[in-house]
Amino acid sequence: MSDAISAPEAFGASFDAAPAREALELGEGLEGDPALAFRKTLGMFATGVTVLTTRVGGQVHGMTANAFMSVSLQPPLVLVSIDRRAKMGALLHEGTRFGVSVLEAQQTGLSDRFAGRVADDLPEAAFELVHETPLVEGALAHLVAGVVRSYWGGDHSLFLGRVEYARYGEGRPLLFHGGRYERLIEDPQVFSMLPEELLGPIIALGEPREYADGQAIMRAGERGAELLLVVAGSVHVERPGRSLTLGPGELIGEIEVLDPGGGRIANIFAVGSVRCVAVTRQQLLTALEADPRAAIALIEVLAARFRETA
Ligand code: FAD
Repeated sequence: MSDAISAPEAFGASFDAAPAREALELGEGLEGDPALAFRKTLGMFATGVTVLTTRVGGQVHGMTANAFMSVSLQPPLVLVSIDRRAKMGALLHEGTRFGVSVLEAQQTGLSDRFAGRVADDLPEAAFELVHETPLVEGALAHLVAGVVRSYWGGDHSLFLGRVEYARYGEGRPLLFHGGRYERLIEDPQVFSMLPEELLGPIIALGEPREYADGQAIMRAGERGAELLLVVAGSVHVERPGRSLTLGPGELIGEIEVLDPGGGRIANIFAVGSVRCVAVTRQQLLTALEADPRAAIALIEVLAARFRETA
């Protein structure tokens, strides 16, 4: 196992022998500054966002970084790439420890803070110490690693860290793509965001439905344009890469009823006996005509979803 660390000959070497930037050929349609085109090309690789932290002489230093990757499970190794002008690069060397805090979707302010961006409303960071290493509180995942090798050249340095501590929690990650923050939209909630006074009259037009244990309520790919409110029992929702259970008061088919051409996006089965109220697309349109405030509220919900990813 230790061979996995000692084997590569390149560790400790410089990568200055890499081709010069002038040798970089830009693909068709890319013009202008090659350095910028290269940077934008790299920006197409979507990543999470971390804050790297270390402690020197009792002082905590943090820096935002997305150039973080896993290297090996056994032994547990990770790698970070740090600009040679960054203070962080001067603080890390073989034998020092660094923390990696994987930011949660709402932590854009902390990312900005540790990237040196200036704004009045950036949140203060709070740290917890693990293995004498600071970690950003509220992050989605934490790692503490000790630098075992550094690798230098070009304008960045690489630090290979052996992981001593790892934890993760539930939540959604902050993403970075094309030079801006993005978020995963996991739960396509639209109608669930409406206030009761606007949702109630829509549901009131629906009709009761009953399903036996294990019965399919919806199948992925099927055409269907009904909004269902679970009234009693629970339903199991299977989407690609994710499954969840919904209970009374929760809605199913929120996207499909607005976009009936796209087909169902999940398999949904009854768990035990289930009672629902089903609202057809036609009934929905009737309700929206009767109270255009609900239509406006839906547009506002959708606009807010776009803003979330802007
Ligand atoms: P500084 O610029 O001195 O510090 C960074 C900021 O953190 C400063 O505003 C400082 O006040 C604040 N800070 C530091 N410690 C504390 C503390 N204890 N409490 C409160 N605030 C503190 N650069 C890379 O080299 N590699 C990357 O992978 C990388 N990825 C990035 C990803 C994103 C999404 C962004 C936005 C930036 C990224 N950067 C990356 C740029 C990098 O974050 C900045 O250049 C950063 O300023 C470098 O930090 P520094 O170590 O030079 O320290």
